[in-house]
Amino acid sequence: MKCPVCTHRLKAVTISDLTVDACSGGCGGIWFDAFELKKLETPHIAEGFTLLNIPINPLVHIDHRRKRPCPRCDDIFLRRHLYSRGHQVEVDSCPNCNGYWLDVGELNLLRQHKPAGKKAPIASTLSPSLARSYYSEVAKPELKELKSHGGEDAKQARWINRLLKFVLPGG
Ligand SMILES: [Zn+2]
Ligand SMILES: [Zn+2]
Repeated sequence: MKCPVCTHRLKAVTISDLTVDACSGGCGGIWFDAFELKKLETPHIAEGFTLLNIPINPLVHIDHRRKRPCPRCDDIFLRRHLYSRGHQVEVDSCPNCNGYWLDVGELNLLRQHKPAGKKAPIASTLSPSLARSYYSEVAKPELKELKSHGGEDAKQARWINRLLKFVLPGG
């Protein structure tokens, strides 16, 4: 499979019995098949993810405006979800196979710190402490609110919450 962001070939990365496809040596994003997401509920897999260190090519630019083809499906583009009023928490998912794509350690985290129209910084420029404070101050409260809506929103909020913990450096 090819990376939907930088077309680098995705590499299978296995944590316990969960295998995901990571853009290792490229943009550092991770593809989760729909059924793979479910496995993240297993505690030892969750733990393994916090140790995951995917090499990133700092020269790869992540362009959020470009359409991203699903690495799994033909002729299907991923849909960008905005999970907050301020659009700070974004993920891509495939409307066909329900897989999820995440930009590792980045997730448009710094969009809020930059004036509109400026480029989002690349993943490697994001400091772990900033990512952590982003998570606790911005993402967490917003996901909490989403959970309070119940139903599908709550279910998705749980996934996003879990995924964010894995992809943010130092979780
Ligand atoms: Zn990539
Ligand atoms: Zn798909």
